[in-house]
Amino acid sequence: LFFLKHVMEKIGFIGLGNMGQPMAQNLLKAGFPLSVYNRSANKTAAFRGAAAVCSSVGELVHNSGVVFTMLTNDEAVKEVYAAILETDVAGRLFVDMSTISPQLSLEICGQLKAKGASLLDAPVAGSTQPAANGTLIILAGGETTDLERARPYLEKMGRLIRHFGGNGKGLAAKLSVNYYLSVLYQSLAETVLLSQQLGLNRADLLEVINESAVGSGATRVKTPLLLSENYAPAFALDLMWKDIRLAQEAGADFPLGRAAAESYRRAAAQGFGQDDVIGIIRYLQQGMDQQ
Ligand code: NAP
Repeated sequence: LFFLKHVMEKIGFIGLGNMGQPMAQNLLKAGFPLSVYNRSANKTAAFRGAAAVCSSVGELVHNSGVVFTMLTNDEAVKEVYAAILETDVAGRLFVDMSTISPQLSLEICGQLKAKGASLLDAPVAGSTQPAANGTLIILAGGETTDLERARPYLEKMGRLIRHFGGNGKGLAAKLSVNYYLSVLYQSLAETVLLSQQLGLNRADLLEVINESAVGSGATRVKTPLLLSENYAPAFALDLMWKDIRLAQEAGADFPLGRAAAESYRRAAAQGFGQDDVIGIIRYLQQGMDQQ
């Protein structure tokens, strides 16, 4: 019965940015009846004709039983959920896939529950390419029944769904994973600069890193950017700075994290925030040039 009740559910997606755009496209390709909304209307262009393009949050919520949100940060999520909470949310499930503070997510969860709706936090590991391939790793927090209701859709966006526990636990996992990533990218950039100082060829060095025990998906995905020195954002440096700050607010207080946070903070303040996160190398290079 549960299956029959929800199988033909209409779904909605709010936030068609670098990540939301390909994620929503995968829902569309899977044949689900999809509504989309984005604050800047130009990003809905690829959906016209195939999805219901809504002109307000209210219209999208009205159209949908399950609503996915993929938004920049706490501020964006606050603003969009304030609009959501003004609508008739009863019986609806909201799945916030943004990386935000667990505390804010719990607050919104309480407000939705009071109006008969529910929330999952389901942030993702993996950048724009896994988003396009439907191979993200989804880190979920919330009630099991809510996760089962969302699962058919999440399976079209990710290759692995891990349920970490109650509300907020998906975000706790995401902040932990990105804490590691923030330190890793900072150290990869430092390593490339060291090898440059030592007169090594960047491509040769990165090949060895990627082939050796220190290579990872993270080093491989950033290699083309480091070679072309084109830092157009897949994952903006500003977002990494946000995530390490969220980890610190949640209690991360360790030497490497403190140093990395300070580095991202300064890089963002000096205008590198809209570059890809590995563009931290340009900020570090600038510091070396000034010495
Ligand atoms: P993005 O490209 O900057 O997209 C952000 C989206 O949020 C856009 O649709 C934007 O609308 C919307 N938005 C921002 N403020 C808003 C507001 N006040 N009201 C309504 N909509 C608002 O960011 P992204 O790279 O897709 O990242 C989204 C989230 O996923 C972030 O929390 C990020 O940390 C996380 N994440 C990103 C990656 C990655 O590799 N990029 C990987 C894993 C997780 P407009 O188009 O109008 O600006």
